[in-house]
Amino acid sequence: MSEPARDDEADAMELTVDGLETYLHCPRRYEFAHDHGLAGSDDDTTIDDRVALLRTAICDGLRRGDPDREALEDAIKTRLEALWDGHDEPFHSLAQRRHERRVLEATATAYVDRVGIDHAAGIEQLASEATEGAVIGPGLSLSSTVSVPETDETTVSIDASVDYVYADGSAIVGVQFVPTLRSLGLLRYRPEWEGAVAEQFTDHFDPDADVFEPAFVGALFETAVVIDGLRNHCRRLGLEDRTCRYVRIPLADRSQTAVNWARKTVETSVEVADLTDVYIDHHTFGMTHEHRNRTVDDRLATVAGRLATGAFDPTDRWESISSHACPDCSYTVCCQEYIAQEVQFDG
Ligand code: SF4
Repeated sequence: MSEPARDDEADAMELTVDGLETYLHCPRRYEFAHDHGLAGSDDDTTIDDRVALLRTAICDGLRRGDPDREALEDAIKTRLEALWDGHDEPFHSLAQRRHERRVLEATATAYVDRVGIDHAAGIEQLASEATEGAVIGPGLSLSSTVSVPETDETTVSIDASVDYVYADGSAIVGVQFVPTLRSLGLLRYRPEWEGAVAEQFTDHFDPDADVFEPAFVGALFETAVVIDGLRNHCRRLGLEDRTCRYVRIPLADRSQTAVNWARKTVETSVEVADLTDVYIDHHTFGMTHEHRNRTVDDRLATVAGRLATGAFDPTDRWESISSHACPDCSYTVCCQEYIAQEVQFDG
């Protein structure tokens, strides 16, 4: 869970989008996790490991370069089978292990049917147009550099990743596999930035608004970083003139899964969340002709700048943090603010 430490000796500093989201939940939590490198307990490791298997199988299947439906599904499932054979996860029974494998296979089939064939064709198109550079990961690194406001030269480099990149007409799309889309909140259900999304984003930073949505804000920050990182990646690919988009695809969302226990079959579907339209604002787009959002980008630079100066005191948002972040935090036993509050209640 470590990330490159802050470099107090130099102007440049490296962050990750995951680190930024941790910081949005609680600056002290970021300090424990990333500055001190203290590992917290992570209940989602098992799900993350299964998603990692499927992510690798899909990327390796796409890498074979055959957009034919049966060939693609076969390639993904063959790779998944090999990865699953080496997957060391304790299950209650053999039946449960078989069931979890069926769920992964059903998700692979749903991915191929929903978008896999089109994306494979888009990867083929992109590979034929690009002069150099990788288009399939998993974990294709992207980076965006932001200038910290009110400083002369301080810049912060923020890293993100996507699992593959494909061409969709004149656009270049970055795809990231995630466990679920739950953390997106409003971003999942609104078609554009203007209106409710813009309002919630602004309210999160308004101390009088009683709104605390770190995952939602973190997803918009990540979208800004990924889209800017894709622009940089396009330059490396020799495709500077393209617009860039960012898509998340969940691989462990059980809400769409139907199990027939008698027949031992699993069916599921895959949702696709394109975060581009809820990120770009039409005013900035009109000014720059690029997929950008001035409000999000400026706030991203401000938050990254605060992090760069080591601003880890959570007390200026204590009401929100103590109510929403502390209850599921792994660092309560070593957190002075949390302990001080508990002692106060006990007294
Ligand atoms: S216990 Fe609360 S204040 Fe302390 S690090 Fe965790 S979220 Fe932050």
